[in-house]
Amino acid sequence: MDFIDRLLLENRAWAQENRAYDPELFERLSAGQSPRVLWIGCADSRVPAEQICNAEPGELFVHRNIANVVAEGDSSRSVLEYAIEVLQVEHIVVCGHHRCGGIQAALSPQQTGLPHVDRHLEPIRQLRDAHVDTLHPLAERDRVTMLSELNVRAQIELLARLPLIKKAHEEQRGPTLHGMMYALESGQLRELVRWPPGSAHSFMASSAMALSE
Ligand SMILES: [Zn+2]
Repeated sequence: MDFIDRLLLENRAWAQENRAYDPELFERLSAGQSPRVLWIGCADSRVPAEQICNAEPGELFVHRNIANVVAEGDSSRSVLEYAIEVLQVEHIVVCGHHRCGGIQAALSPQQTGLPHVDRHLEPIRQLRDAHVDTLHPLAERDRVTMLSELNVRAQIELLARLPLIKKAHEEQRGPTLHGMMYALESGQLRELVRWPPGSAHSFMASSAMALSE
């Protein structure tokens, strides 16, 4: 069977199963969304946000791009603006992952030759150069993981400084920021950093997220 035909068939099966399990699901979803979490993750096909969190449709507002970068002038800013100003999400997760191809490319001294990809990866290359002493002694796989973690932390720091997020915090409606890493080898998420430090994270206590540490 053609792969696209298979996807369409699987979609019909999925819709029927969900309707059988919860007859009002699609009617409810049609009425609107109120997700509590904005998820900013990597576009990698092995890190599907909803599946790894066991989240239902309507629970996560999702933006994914190569190596989970929040950059000036790209579509992540419109997603952030809508999530904070209109949806008023309580949490923003930035999730990196082990063996990320975008991070591997950013570690290479050569450009990829793909102009859009190279432009997108430039902030990670700058991060690599700023942390060369930490990264250089590591074995290759550890170097990729370390730069992924540094990238997640850098994105959280960047988000915390954004006027949009500062304003939301001043108005007592600010989202808590969570930097996370996903291990492809175990399927587990781990929280690296939270901002503001010590803030509540009730959504994780009530979700199926598995935290290894
Ligand atoms: Zn990736």
